[in-house]
This record gives sequence, structure tokens and C-alpha cells, in this order.
Amino acid sequence: MRTVLFLLAIVLGLVGFGVLSGSPLLGTILLGFAFSILIAGLRRKSKQNVGFSVFSEGSLSPSERMARISKLKFTPVGNLEAMCPYCNQSLEKKPVRKKKCPHCGQFIYVRTRPSDEHQVIVTEAQAEEIAEQWSIVNGTHDAYLAEKKRFTEEKDKLAKRFGREPSDNDVRWSQLNQELIEHARQRNWGFFRNAKFEMAEILRKEGRSAGALGFYLEVCYLDLNGPNNTSGITDSELLRQYPPWNPKDLTANLAPGILDRVARIIQKNNQSPATVEEIYRTRASVLHTSLRLPLSPASVWPKIRKALFHEEA
Ligand SMILES: [Zn+2]
Repeated sequence: MRTVLFLLAIVLGLVGFGVLSGSPLLGTILLGFAFSILIAGLRRKSKQNVGFSVFSEGSLSPSERMARISKLKFTPVGNLEAMCPYCNQSLEKKPVRKKKCPHCGQFIYVRTRPSDEHQVIVTEAQAEEIAEQWSIVNGTHDAYLAEKKRFTEEKDKLAKRFGREPSDNDVRWSQLNQELIEHARQRNWGFFRNAKFEMAEILRKEGRSAGALGFYLEVCYLDLNGPNNTSGITDSELLRQYPPWNPKDLTANLAPGILDRVARIIQKNNQSPATVEEIYRTRASVLHTSLRLPLSPASVWPKIRKALFHEEA
């Protein structure tokens, strides 16, 4: 910006000087302009040192994080000991992941709290409190609050439509459906794929494995097509460089975590390769035609089948 102002000042100055003899008035005006632009350029602060840090907001270095945490003085949240955060009854041992309390039946969560970075066991509300504290530490509190507000608004909307209080999963599901449309509009196929994965996860955690299976198979098909986020780019040269779908991309692979989840569902429901293929074909065909994906469902099925059933393709 500074350079542009200087160049403009020089050009105007030269032109002003040139016309000074022919038209003194115009020449003087132009020279005046050139002078004021030059002053503006000199007063403008150089921006080159601003924001140049390896650790941007949200990814602080360990020492930066510790300095910020000690300044913020959070109240410690949660229990360090093996004691239920709801009913205060002692537990056999301190849980290391989400677990139901054997005394009161409520879900106990495991989190690292910012105040001393110790692992504690907490209630659902305390887990939320810790998430908010971390967002303050990471400088993403505004985004956290905005997200929370969006969630509450969606919840109110659904409550009116359902005539009852929706579950958190209902709310998230509704948001994900809207996000799918938005990601497709922006051609952010990486995010689109992640939304499909989150939907599969919701169904799996709710014990609806048949529903989850269809979504996981969609993710497998999307992954092999190499989804990229193109953020609404329409420039053809850029799109050639960063294609929305690139099956030749090194990351265009089946994810072990997803294959593992699919394999568990297939095993639990005792499904044959033919049954799984039927579900896969139905789901993948819709994606293939609606999103115009480069690889056909049939052409990648042998790869998926081999990975799922551990057989030679
Ligand atoms: Zn309890």
C-alpha cells in the first residue's frame, strides 16, 4: 500500500511539473495532490511486521499458552480424585474416557482443564465450561460464543417445529444438513465429506448402525475421489491447479478409522459382501450423478470390498 502511494505521488508530481508551464493552475493542483499523497504515504505505518508469527491465534506455542493461562486465573473445574462429579460417591478408579456413574447413572466426562492442565473428571456442564475456558486461552472465544448462539437458535427453531425439546443430536443433525448445502455451494468438498462423517458418527453413537453404515460408505466413496475445498473459486486456471476432486491426490485414500467402523458394523449385523455392495451402490450412485464425481461407484468398489473383507480383489 505504501509503495502504491509513493508511486502515485511521483507520477502525479512529474505530470504536474510537465503541465506547470502550459497551465500553471492545473500544474499547481497536481503538484499539491502529489505532495499530500506523499505525506499520507509517510504517515502510514508499515504493516510488514504485523501478524507474522508461526503460531497464529488458536495455535499458541507452549510458553505463550502458559503465560496466557497464568494471566487469566481460571477457577479449577472438576475432580482430580476418583469421585463422581454429580453425586460425589467414590468410584472404583478414575475414568479415562466418558463413562456412566454406577451410582447415579449420569455420564462422567474426562477433560484437561486449562487452570493447571491436569486431567479431571467432570459433569456435562463442567465439560462445556472447560471448552469455553480453552477458547479464551486460544483466542477463539468469539467464535465459541457465536457457535453456541447458532446452536441455541437452531434448538429453539426445532423445538417449535417438533412441539418438544430436541436432543443435542437433533440440533446438530439439522445444522449438518444445512452445512452440506452450503459446502456444496462453495464446492468445499473436504468439509462436505467431514459433515457426512459427522452424521455417520451421530447415528453410530445413537446405536443406529444400519443408518451409519450408509454414511460411512458414502465417505469411503468420497475419499477415493479426492475431495478438496475450493472455497467458491471460479477461476479456471486456479481450478486446474486445485481441482475440486482429485482421485490422483496422495490423500485420496480409504481412512483406516472409517474402514474399522464399517467392518465392526458389518460383523455385528452379519452382513454379506453382496448386501454391503447393494447399500454402497445406492448411496454412491446418488453422489456420483449429483456431484459429478470423477470415479464411478463400480470402478472403486473392488478396492473398498478388498479393504473391508480382507480378500483379494
Ligand atoms: Zn454419580
